[in-house]
Parts: sequence; structure tokens; C-alpha cells
Amino acid sequence: MKTYDVIVIGLGAMGSAAAYHCAKRGANVLGLDANAPNHTLGSSHGATRAIRETYFESPEYVPLCQRSYNLWRELEQDSGKSLLATNGAIYVGPKEHPMLKGVASAAEQHSLPIERLSRDEVKTRFTGFVLPDGWEGIFEQRGGVLQSEMCLHAHTELARKHGAELKFGVGETTWHKNKAGHFVVKTENDEFESASAILTLGPWACNALRDLNLPINGRRITIVHFDTAEPARYSQADFSVQFWATPEGVYGGFPHIEGEGLKIMRHDTGDVCTPQTARRDVTEADRADVVDFAKKYMPYANGGITKSLVGLYTMTPDNHFIIDRHPEFENVAYATGFSGHGFKFAPVIGEVLADMVLDGSTRHPTNFLKAARFGKS
Ligand SMILES: Cc1cc2nc3c(=O)[nH]c(=O)nc-3n(C[C@H](O)[C@H](O)[C@H](O)COP(=O)(O)OP(=O)(O)OC[C@H]3O[C@@H](n4cnc5c(N)ncnc54)[C@H](O)[C@@H]3O)c2cc1C
Repeated sequence: MKTYDVIVIGLGAMGSAAAYHCAKRGANVLGLDANAPNHTLGSSHGATRAIRETYFESPEYVPLCQRSYNLWRELEQDSGKSLLATNGAIYVGPKEHPMLKGVASAAEQHSLPIERLSRDEVKTRFTGFVLPDGWEGIFEQRGGVLQSEMCLHAHTELARKHGAELKFGVGETTWHKNKAGHFVVKTENDEFESASAILTLGPWACNALRDLNLPINGRRITIVHFDTAEPARYSQADFSVQFWATPEGVYGGFPHIEGEGLKIMRHDTGDVCTPQTARRDVTEADRADVVDFAKKYMPYANGGITKSLVGLYTMTPDNHFIIDRHPEFENVAYATGFSGHGFKFAPVIGEVLADMVLDGSTRHPTNFLKAARFGKS
């Protein structure tokens, strides 16, 4: 049986970054994924993902986010690809909404620059937006957009360049501990052994890690792309990403991007599912929320729907990630529960997981993400 220092199972955003960081440090790495590269069944597909620093979910993420910005820039240098553009994030909603308060609080705690904009200032600067009375905006200069498919590709290609063996389309693997206490993973046709392992299973973790009783759930999200006859109203020159705290729900999206149109989605709803049960077609009813949002708040996004996609979140009850050690294996780390906001952190999560299995602990402040907060070991 072939043996490795580290086996990474699941090569989405998190696993590809983990494989890269382990291989870059000289570990002998095997990466396995059930599905083909660029598959659309999990959480990491699609051309774009948002990145932002004034982290409204909790200021505790800010140092991790800052490390991620640096690692994305390093990845750009190592891959020779342009992966990150930072034309700013615009947050809008009622002044007292937790999202706006969260942005302001993260900015204050970490001395990050933000611009507070009155409703009129938002309307003048972002002419495609409609804001009700009593709303305001916050603009964060460092908010940006990641070319997510290219990011994944850069991590996998550079992992290979550093000697990692990555195998896609191997089907859902299973694993156990052998008599020597080593990690053994089985595919349909092979078995591999390693001293340590990283499990980055996305929404598949809900089933595959069920023995750990983690409070995680898959959630089905609909993404809608709109055309516009007036792209200048939603220009990349003005912003990279937008976040809306409306009374109807929390929405997010990107400016008009040639070939992509305007990508908009609702963040705070979606049917509970697993990758096995998720419905993959998109009906008019699935799109209704986003279409109503666009009509009301972005009325120039009226050139018709160009495409709709389904993606899966892996939710935790507090919307924070879970990064921990597997309680039943010597040296196995896992990361899951990214709750729809993990992509931007992929390189730092890769570094954290590499630290955990190669060094025994991580230098990064991730204690707040341990499963123990749910009473799990
Ligand atoms: C529509 C959408 C929009 C989002 N927008 C943003 C955003 O703007 N900014 C942001 O920061 N985050 C965003 N996120 C969240 C972010 O994309 C996810 O947190 C991230 O992609 C999760 O990556 P992952 O590697 O954990 O999961 P996945 O990408 O799902 O990867 C898991 C992989 O594991 C493989 N696998 C599972 N089980 C097995 C097994 N037993 N054996 C072998 N392989 C297995 C699967 O095939 C899969 O490839 C968004 C998510 C979605 C769905």
C-alpha cells in the first residue's frame, strides 16, 4: 500500500489550499476528491467570491482575513495569475442593522478605514441602487472579488508543482485506523495510508462526519445572473462587492462583469439538504426572492436572467466555521461548517490545517472555531 505524510480528502477551496500548503512545506501529499475538477455539486464552483476585511460576522476573523489577503497576493505571484481585485465593498441597510453595526465594530476594533455614507451619498455614488428612507451605507476600500475558479486551479497546480499527487473523480472515499494507528483511506480501486490526514469535505461532512455529532446542515442556495442595458450603473470601477441588509433578507452580489452579468444571491435562506438530496434544477420559485430584490433595489438589472445556479452552504448554528482535530484519530484535522462565507479564508485555512498536521498546532488564532463551543470534543 502506498504511504504518504498527509492525505487530504476533498479538494474544494479548502482542501486544495491545504494540499498546497502541506506540499510547499515538503510533505509527501496525496489529495483525493470524489468528483471531477470544477464540479458544481458542492460549495466552491462559480467564477467569483467576495473578500472583505471589516468582518461583520465577528471581529475575531479579521487577523485570519488579513493573513488571507497576503496569501492570495503570494498565490498571484507564484501562479502568475491575477486573482484578486479590490475596488471596495459597499454595505447598505438600516443604520441599526447588525450587519452595518458589525462592519463598524470590526473596523473600530482593528483600526480599519471605512467611509460612512448617507443615503444621498450612496445614491449619488451608486446610481443603480434604490435605498429606502432611514438607510445608510458603509464603504470598505479593501473589499474585493476573487476569481474563485482560477484560485482553485492555482492551488491545485502549485500543489502538484511542489510534488503533491492529486486524484479527482475517485468516488466517495471511506477511511479507518489500522493496527499501527495509521490513517487508511479506501477508494473503489485503491487503498492508501498516511501518518496524518486532513478532511475538507464541504457539505458531504454532514454525512461523512456524522459520528462526531457536529451541528452542521447543508443548505441549498440559488444564484441568479442578470443582464443590464446600463452596466455603468453597476460598474466594477465603483465597487467589487455589495451587501444588502433588507427587511426581506440579506442579499449580496457583484458589479456588472462582462460575460457574467450581475450576480446576485440571497444569503440567509435556502432548503436544508445534503449533496445527495439537493435539487439541482432552478425553478422560477427558487429565483423569486432574488428577482423581487433586484426589482425593488437594483431596478436597472432588468435585462433578463442570463443564468441561474445552485450552490451548497454548510451551516453551523452560530454561522462560524468548525476547525478541529478528529477525536478518534491521532493526527487528523478537519474543517467544515463554513456557513457561506469561507472562500476568502481558503489560503489561511490551508495554512492552519497544514500547521495542525505537520507542526502539531497552529500559529493562527482559531480557538474560537473549535467544536468544543457546541459541547463536542
Ligand atoms: C453560492 C455560494 C456563494 C458563496 N459566496 C462566497 C463569497 O462571496 N465569499 C466567501 O468567502 N465565501 C463564499 N461562499 C462560501 C465558500 O464558497 C465555501 O465556504 C467554500 O467554497 C467551501 O469549500 P470546501 O472546500 O469546504 O467545500 P467544497 O467546495 O464543497 O469541497 C468539498 C470537496 O470534498 C469532496 N468530497 C466530499 N466527500 C468526499 C469523500 N468522502 N471522498 C472524496 N472526496 C470527497 C467533494 O467532491 C468536494 O469537491 C459561497 C458559497 C456558495 C455556495
